[in-house]
Amino acid sequence: MSRNKSEKCSFCGRSGVSLFEGLDGAYICPDCIENGHNILQEMEREQERKNPSQPSFSLKDLPQPQQIKAFLDQYVIGQDDAKRYLSVAVYNHYKRLALSVDKVSVPAVEPYKDVEIEKSNIIMVGPTGTGKTLMARTIAKLLTVPFTIVDATVITEAGYVGEDVESILTRLYQEADCDVRKAERGIVFIDEIDKIARKSDNPSITRDVSGEGVQQALLKLLEGSVVNVPPKGGRKHPEQEFVKINTQNILFICGGAFDGIERKIAQRLNTQVVGFEASRQTHRIDRNNLLQYVAPQDLKAFGLIPEIVGRLPILTHLEPLDRNALRAILTEPKNAITKQYQKLLAMDGVKLTFEEAALDYIVDKAIEYKLGARGLRSLTETVMMDLMYDIPEQHISSYEVTRAVAEEKINRADTERLRSAI
Ligand code: ADP
Repeated sequence: MSRNKSEKCSFCGRSGVSLFEGLDGAYICPDCIENGHNILQEMEREQERKNPSQPSFSLKDLPQPQQIKAFLDQYVIGQDDAKRYLSVAVYNHYKRLALSVDKVSVPAVEPYKDVEIEKSNIIMVGPTGTGKTLMARTIAKLLTVPFTIVDATVITEAGYVGEDVESILTRLYQEADCDVRKAERGIVFIDEIDKIARKSDNPSITRDVSGEGVQQALLKLLEGSVVNVPPKGGRKHPEQEFVKINTQNILFICGGAFDGIERKIAQRLNTQVVGFEASRQTHRIDRNNLLQYVAPQDLKAFGLIPEIVGRLPILTHLEPLDRNALRAILTEPKNAITKQYQKLLAMDGVKLTFEEAALDYIVDKAIEYKLGARGLRSLTETVMMDLMYDIPEQHISSYEVTRAVAEEKINRADTERLRSAI
């Protein structure tokens, strides 16, 4: 570094500033270093715009199904079937991308070079609040491809208030930093797919706005086609510019509660079950959890068009959460609600603990008020609210939430408010 007044920056000619000395009496000032740095960055960005880099991954580094499931296990209680299906589907999605998009050469695959691996979109059926969205969000943490969650209820047929089906891809495109090639390898989770079901099983009945038209439009995305996507979303209009996104390699995961589908399952099981052989089968059917027998024809009977059902070949179900599951959800997941409060109070220097009986009480109330897993949060929040207000002032180093405290806070709370909070 030189501060000799007579020396000048060899680039801008300025003198009297700190200069960095190079070879052969050359100098450079901090401003010119910064300018040069900016120019280099701009050149890199330009290069990236012209030739966006593919998010590349090597096959051997791919998270394998068991690893994906182990990761899900840290956040989601139970739901083993759905976790396995999801893990395999995501793994296969990567493999498809490697072969068909990245053209990775795998010698052992050579004999099958004419075999096209079809996309296996998934549909998860399960009561509300059993972990469908949680599972999707959790898997997103692990992914190196763009991922987005959209709600099917906002989509309506063109001409009605709401969003066009294509807007599903807008979100993915934005997640992919507006890079079409990245978006084309992404995963979309469509929540509440059951809400666009036809209201009647009979397709000849007068057209129903919310259902069939939207399903037809959605079908185009699922089938794999080039779609005009409004980059900023919303309704299409003539002057708008579109980006073209090919959905051929986009994986779709759908989820829905399908309220009442048990009736369709029961009907199917009853009609199938005729004769002596069948009476033995009926015996084995667990009437308390019919969802485990869900089959594609039940989705059709519920009101999804056959083409959509055909495009969602992997069908899995989520289990209702029993008492043990609810109890585990309170404390076991990495992000468990009780851990969140412990962390918050640790910031005030307070070690927060929960009496076992207090946790049991919260679970009892969630069951009694039929609040499900979502209710665990609002109940715990009800217990913690006053405590969070008072504890920082008390200058204590530990606090135990006892059953008596939990009872007092929850009994005082308005159960209607608890219900509306979920
Ligand atoms: P849905 O099935 O309706 O998509 P969510 O995944 O949104 O339900 O679940 C709502 C909340 O309930 C989650 O954010 C989570 O706190 C809790 N929850 C539900 N199911 C589970 C589960 N299996 N394991 C852990 N937490 C769960």
